[in-house]
Amino acid sequence: MPLKTPEEYVESLRALQIRAYVGGERVDSIVDSPLIAPHINTVAKTYELAHRPEHRDVMTAESHLTGERIHRYTHIFQSADDLVKKIQMLRLLGQVTGTCFQRCVGLDALNAAYAISYEVDQAEGTDYHQRFKTYLELVQREDLMLAGAMTDPKGHRGKRPSEQADPDAFVRVVERRPDGVVIRGAKLHNTGGINSHEVLVLPGTGLIPGEEDYAIACAVPADADGVLFVFGRQSNDSRKLEGGCDIGNPRFGVVGGEAMVVFEDVFVPTERIFLNGEVGHVGTLVHYFATWHRANYGGCKGGNADVLIGATAKMTKVLGTDRNAVVKDKLVEMIHMNETTYASAIGASAMGYALPCGSFMVEPMMANTVKQNITRNVYQIGRLSHDLAGGFLATMPDEKAFENPEIGDLVRKYHTANPDYDVDERIRLGRYIENMTSVTTMVEAMHGAGSPQAQRIVMLGQAAIDEKIAMADEVINGTDDVPGLPLPGKAAARSA
Ligand code: SF4
Repeated sequence: MPLKTPEEYVESLRALQIRAYVGGERVDSIVDSPLIAPHINTVAKTYELAHRPEHRDVMTAESHLTGERIHRYTHIFQSADDLVKKIQMLRLLGQVTGTCFQRCVGLDALNAAYAISYEVDQAEGTDYHQRFKTYLELVQREDLMLAGAMTDPKGHRGKRPSEQADPDAFVRVVERRPDGVVIRGAKLHNTGGINSHEVLVLPGTGLIPGEEDYAIACAVPADADGVLFVFGRQSNDSRKLEGGCDIGNPRFGVVGGEAMVVFEDVFVPTERIFLNGEVGHVGTLVHYFATWHRANYGGCKGGNADVLIGATAKMTKVLGTDRNAVVKDKLVEMIHMNETTYASAIGASAMGYALPCGSFMVEPMMANTVKQNITRNVYQIGRLSHDLAGGFLATMPDEKAFENPEIGDLVRKYHTANPDYDVDERIRLGRYIENMTSVTTMVEAMHGAGSPQAQRIVMLGQAAIDEKIAMADEVINGTDDVPGLPLPGKAAARSA
């Protein structure tokens, strides 16, 4: 059965010759880097849970290509139920890891490439779709983790790709050969990029005629010649090197371990190219990817918030405030916001519809509304967590103060709240809350899957304002009523 174990995932990463830079230094083995290991451990949970019988239904699916049981992270959405199960999987994984588990970008990129390769073939007479299906079989058979690489550096934001002073500001084809293409450029913010097997490169913005070199979708092995990764910093990441209570998230990462991936004239063979110059289809490709990914946030952030709410509720016990009615009400407010976004994600999925290729798309208005709410609710939930946990989140001493024989007893004595709980517990909870409401976490909620304005543009387009105006006109001025009722206004009109 094509389901990797967590151990096989780690060993498969070890076998790759990934060129990675962490903290400005080249690392020989990403698996042995203490800054990357928590992110690898997070992804390992996605592999582990697929083997548990109680999670089989949400963590695995039947391949529409082979009929085999595969990981849901390599599946093409075949129904609205598949979309709902995906959101359920994300909430589950969010609850288990309390952070971003990274594989969803690759999954949505996989689905976007599947759908668009079909549509391009239909319109242009190309043969991308069969090529992509062959690649998809490999991904499913090997249970690969894909990094979906969408976001270009973009350079000057007021200029198009073809207008940039540096033409490499967007990934582009720099050479066409009989057996493939050579690409150059970089993609930023790649969630899980550094610990993926493959990079699925897609254009990140709509293109126009004349920009054919930027219309490239292809799959590149993470250790291909010319590929390198630069790991991003996260709030408090170097605390992971210190040990003790101060780490916050000792087992799992804070968000997704984002990395910059650079393509230094990377050769991509023809069989790994799924779009090459068809600029007219790129807008749809970006729309498909973004819409699926925006709905996700109601699932993964829902699970993350479950953990944060749990940590905050436990903190109120440690502080001795848990029986206070105002405290309980603030916890309810956190729950309310969390369940609202989850419900929208489930709704967007339940109302999914078939694309021309037969795979399923979430309902776009709801999907964008999910992400728009996330850009607010994650901040609001974090604000309430800060409110309930107290100011010591920002002022607590580091663990070394507790261990210092001169001052340790004093620090411990004056940081003990409810004596039923050890002060270490207060610190551990505080550090976790600190990390999960940090700048890195908040910014990811704000800009991941597109910045807030990107969702608002889609929402306005989907809102059919003219139809709403017509609805208002009909309700206010309509005449289609049951005869004989003394309706105000109408009665006067009749008697006049
Ligand atoms: Fe998945 Fe959420 Fe992370 Fe995106 S932010 S990769 S949807 S867990």
